[in-house]
This record gives sequence, C-alpha cells and structure tokens, in this order.
Amino acid sequence: MRGAILYGPRDVRFEERAEPTIIEPTDAIIRISATCVCGSDLWPYRGISPVAQPTPMGHEYCGIVEEVGRAVTSIKPGQFVIGSFFASDNTCPHCRAGYPSSCQHREFVTTAQAPVLRVPLADGTLVATPDVPSRDLIPSLLTLSEVMGTGWFAAEAANVKPGMTLVVVGDGAVGLLAVLSGRQIGAERIIAMSRHESRQKLAREFGATEIVTERGDESVAHIKDMTNGIGADAVLECVGTQESMMQAIRSTRPGGYVGYVGVPHGVELNGEGLFFSHIHLHGGPAPVRRFLPEMIDLVWNGMINPGKVFDLTLPLDEVAEG
Ligand SMILES: [Zn+2]
Repeated sequence: MRGAILYGPRDVRFEERAEPTIIEPTDAIIRISATCVCGSDLWPYRGISPVAQPTPMGHEYCGIVEEVGRAVTSIKPGQFVIGSFFASDNTCPHCRAGYPSSCQHREFVTTAQAPVLRVPLADGTLVATPDVPSRDLIPSLLTLSEVMGTGWFAAEAANVKPGMTLVVVGDGAVGLLAVLSGRQIGAERIIAMSRHESRQKLAREFGATEIVTERGDESVAHIKDMTNGIGADAVLECVGTQESMMQAIRSTRPGGYVGYVGVPHGVELNGEGLFFSHIHLHGGPAPVRRFLPEMIDLVWNGMINPGKVFDLTLPLDEVAEG
C-alpha cells in the first residue's frame, strides 16, 4: 500500500510502505474511511519540531474493521469504528479514572494517513457506531477521533455548566468545536476570539454569541468590559502559546476555570501570578476515548455536525497537497 510520509519541512510524500498486519493478539486492522491533517502535524511540517527521519503521519481515523487478533472480544470485522489518537486499554487505573490518554499502556497512533491501519488495544481503543454510516456522516464521525473530543474536553475541563459565560481562545478546528461543545452543554454567552471572517461565521453557527477580535491586553480588557469587570466563568484555551495562555488566565474571574487543550509551545507560568489569580487550571491531551460513546450518539442523531470544520477534501494520494 501507499501512505503519507514526512521527510522534512514541507516535504510530504505518498509512497509505498508495508501494509500493517496483526502483531499483538489485542490488535485490530481497519480499512480507513477518512483521515485528516491535524494542527499538530504542522509543527514538524513547518520545521518548528525537527524531523529526524522519514516519519509516517496521521493520528485521526475512522473505518471498517477488517481483522482482529485472537484476544479481541468486543470489536468485530465489518464494524465501523472510531478511535482516539492514543490507543488505551480502558481498564487500567488511569482509564477507569477517566483519563485514557494517560493510560498506563497507551500507544500513540501515527500511521493513519494510509488506506489500512493497525490499532493496538482494539477493545479498549475503538468504539463502533450503531451501523455502517452513510457517507455524509463520515466527516463528523472523523472529528470525534480528535478535534471534537478535544474541544469537548476543553469545555469539560473548564467546568462549563448551563447558563455560564465562557470565552474560547483560538478559532482553529478545536476552538470552533469548543464553541460547539459549550453550546451543547448550555452555556448562555459564548465569546469567541477570532480574527478570521470565515471562522467567525462558523463560530456563530456553532453557537458563539459574541466575537472579540483583539489579542493580548486589549482582549482581556474587552472581556472584562463585557462581563461588568468580572471576567468569564470559564475560558477554553485552544492555541498553546504564551500569549493565548495568559489571555485565558487573565480573562477568567476569580474562582473560574481555564480548560487548556492547545499543546503548549514555550508556555511558562509564573507561580505568584497563578496563586493570586484564584483560578482552576485543568487540561492536557484530551481523554477522547471517554467521550466517544456520547459524541457518536450526538452525531448519529443529528444533534451536532462538527464535520463542518473541514474546508478541503482530497483523495488520499493528494495528501501532500492537503
Ligand atoms: Zn488504561
């Protein structure tokens, strides 16, 4: 088969590599229905994270099970399944506590931009949909593998409750789906920070009630103005830079929550500043597996349509263009 391999900055090739087979008895082999490019793929693609050797790409996936190892009991060939970017056993203490992305046996899935994928720990990692979906549902189901689950976790980590005022920092796919998650949970005001017109439009469609275009000090002042000088109940940080993290912390009212899901790049927090901010801070790699059953149900029943975040669809052999 052929799959996507990153050779170095701006050098993605679609080339021949071995088709995966069952290695461990807990593996499954799935035929990919759709995969996508993640914001985190851009760090090595742009040369910000080094690429030491040709590296297969892709960690967001859904597809049809072709084969399972002899120890797999709940996942069956023919099922349409979705899994997280971290394979997890779903049985260890961290999984049972709700953090499968910190599973004691976690394995990062890195070869999904290909027609066939080996998924470790299949019973723990994969969740089957009620039936094989129609084509139009596949984009939304694909987002559940990472971006939708990450936006959802941002809202959960920030303790979003009905009636709250929340702010979303970042208008990439995760930020937009954090807006959608806040709306789904029932936040009353959702302030999206965005400077891109097309993303502002989608943010509003997903449930944003207000848009703030400033950054840094000005954005914090604007949020304070909009909340009678108090700050937001919850702020969802979906970028991962020093500026976005400080924007999030400073926009939150004392006693409020910051949910942070942007992978930090060079973020450093000052202990004293954090101490006097009186905020709750929770985040990390989203425990996507925990949310899959509920999110599949919402997509399956037409309650949410997170697949709208995709703005380009290409055949797999044009992955370099993607
Ligand atoms: Zn585990």
